[in-house]
Amino acid sequence: MSIKYTQDKAASAEILRLILQKMAGHPAAFNPPTYAVWYEFLAGINPQLTEAMNKLLGDKGLLTTEMAQHFFDLYISEGNPQAQAAFRQNMQKLLDNLATFAESTGSETDRFSAGLQKYGETLNKGVDAPSLKNLVGEIMQDTQSMRSSVESLQGKLYESKEEVEKLQHELQNARNEALSDPMTGVFNRRGFDAQMKKLVANPDLKDKRVCFMMLDIDFFKKVNDTYGHLFGDKVIRGVAAALTARVKGQDSVARMGGEEFAVILPDTPMQGAYALAEQIRQNIANSKIRRSEKQDVVEGITISIGIADCEIGGDWADALSRADEALYVSKTQGRNRTTLYAVAK
Ligand code: GH3
Ligand code: MG
Ligand code: MG
Repeated sequence: MSIKYTQDKAASAEILRLILQKMAGHPAAFNPPTYAVWYEFLAGINPQLTEAMNKLLGDKGLLTTEMAQHFFDLYISEGNPQAQAAFRQNMQKLLDNLATFAESTGSETDRFSAGLQKYGETLNKGVDAPSLKNLVGEIMQDTQSMRSSVESLQGKLYESKEEVEKLQHELQNARNEALSDPMTGVFNRRGFDAQMKKLVANPDLKDKRVCFMMLDIDFFKKVNDTYGHLFGDKVIRGVAAALTARVKGQDSVARMGGEEFAVILPDTPMQGAYALAEQIRQNIANSKIRRSEKQDVVEGITISIGIADCEIGGDWADALSRADEALYVSKTQGRNRTTLYAVAK
């Protein structure tokens, strides 16, 4: 995708000055989404956001934290509607070109077959040797021009195929970005929903069940307070990596929020999910995480897990909240443990 922020240091410093003025007059918290909203609005680089903001400010509205987050989610973090529009536009151009080309090749083909017919008729009437020689010469010429026309269409089709593949690749990248969590590389909440939709639509999984594991890092606030936020981030990435390393096939891992993860386990019995959860839990509880630049390692970070299941086509949002309930039981019973929903009840 193209780079959005092309303003140089001086220009962005000017925008920063404006942002500070504006931010001061609105109740939204001074957080990154709010900053990004003001930045893109004041830099005039995001037409949809500009329209939304103009409407809000025109109505003498004030930007609240919720609204800034909403605008950020809708117009900035997605970033993709533009990519998708560009994709559609390029695709359309390509198809138009191809259609024009196919048409001209089509009329060439018509001419060619009309020519062949004419030659056939002449031959039927009977011709002498010199005329036959001429006729063969003409046919060869026509065939040659037909061949180059077809070759040229093939070349165009080949080029177009590459172009389409490139566009599809770009779109896929844009889509992946929208579905994954940049910090850990696993799915985000939107990616989780997309995965579920895929599973529901998969005929091989029809009538199967799906297990959900909800995980939350224990006493994470304390980890942040003791070792700093950057180390906290490292722990979150470590947990994501530990999860990714242990799931396979159709299983997926998603970061559902701060230090909470969900794992989707299609066609997995509850006991199988439990065994996997226990492996993951013990693996994390036994791991040591090195603090950057320093030699010391941090030990004893644990996670709590809850598990519930439902039919693939069933109410999986409900199953997810049952997994959350089971997770809560793990928390209240002392953390660093796994609870199955059935047992929790
Ligand atoms: P509990 O065992 O009950 O889960 O205790 P907890 O301290 O983990 O409680 P809670 O889930 O309420 O705290 C989550 C904390 O995670 C709060 C928030 O500051 C922190 N957090 C959320 N997102 C991030 C992040 O991206 N990075 C870091 N370092 N911390 C985060
Ligand atoms: Mg939490
Ligand atoms: Mg926690």
